Amino acid sequence: MGTMKAAVLQRPGEIRVEQMRIPEPGPGEVLVRVRAVGVCGSDVHYYKEGRIGRYVVEKPLILGHESAGEVVALGSGVSHISVGGRVAVEPGVPCRRCGYCKGGRYNLCADVTFMATPPVDGAFAEYIAWPADFVYPLAENLGYAEGALMEPLAVGMHAVRRARLVPGWTVLILGGGPIGQMALLAARAAGAGRIILTDLEDRRLDVASRLGADVTINPGRASVSDAVSAATDEEGPDLVIEAAGTAATVRQSIELVRRGGTVVWIGLPSQDPCEVSALQAIDKEVDILGIFRYANVYPDAIRLAASGKINLAPLVTHRFPLEEARQALDTVAEQKSSAVKVLVEV
Ligand SMILES: [Zn+2]
Ligand SMILES: [Zn+2]
Repeated sequence: MGTMKAAVLQRPGEIRVEQMRIPEPGPGEVLVRVRAVGVCGSDVHYYKEGRIGRYVVEKPLILGHESAGEVVALGSGVSHISVGGRVAVEPGVPCRRCGYCKGGRYNLCADVTFMATPPVDGAFAEYIAWPADFVYPLAENLGYAEGALMEPLAVGMHAVRRARLVPGWTVLILGGGPIGQMALLAARAAGAGRIILTDLEDRRLDVASRLGADVTINPGRASVSDAVSAATDEEGPDLVIEAAGTAATVRQSIELVRRGGTVVWIGLPSQDPCEVSALQAIDKEVDILGIFRYANVYPDAIRLAASGKINLAPLVTHRFPLEEARQALDTVAEQKSSAVKVLVEV
């Protein structure tokens, strides 16, 4: 096998494009020629700080876990996918043997190999070898950029599934980053009657409006509780999706939801533990649900995107070639006001 280019995180703050060996697909794996990779908040944490909680970058690491590409070689025993197929790549591969895996909640498996989480390399590279049962054929009308977006879309869809969203519900989404926007698309597709989204950046509110938000609120200029109350006839939303990851919005999620409503927490709070009113949650009989990644969502995410019922295009605000992976990460880290989803095209 020959060599390929990969953008390698050497140490916090330093990315270098290097030549390295093209990986060889093992039994049950496929070799994917990577075409598009989304930059995620977690990539930026590893790039800037070298760690997320207990995961620490101790040796050079290839970042990127939201990828799509073309299958160019098959390992032994792979029959359901053929060379030349275009695929979205699911970045987390669980053990397949534990109770969570057998029960269909493999996102909770304790033994997951997840791309771009130390020490597992990610997809800012020309090629990756990956288990064939965790790559999914892209519908013909979807491009590689959309294929890469299936990862954050899967998170938004998993949140809406866990919430058991009922058609007609009023949904409040706190935070208009990529995950909040994906939750918006999923909620819209699931039949939400009214969607409200908050963010401090007007650019993100514009994107949310284009994706189908009915009301957008900038907490820097208006009181969120007043605006939500006005938009919901004083009732409060049936479902609040916390996707901002701040202590204040976590607290707000309980405060703002209607009595008997559902709260979903996706954003990782930058400060933890954070304070919420248990009394309020009890008094309102709130259902509180945590969301960790997704399980068994990719095929449906691809079908939903292919159906034309959601429009992913407004999400992609920046594109960079692999050689500029560093600029792509810097853009996500530093241009919060203009960047929603940043793609690396390989
Ligand atoms: Zn991601
Ligand atoms: Zn497992």
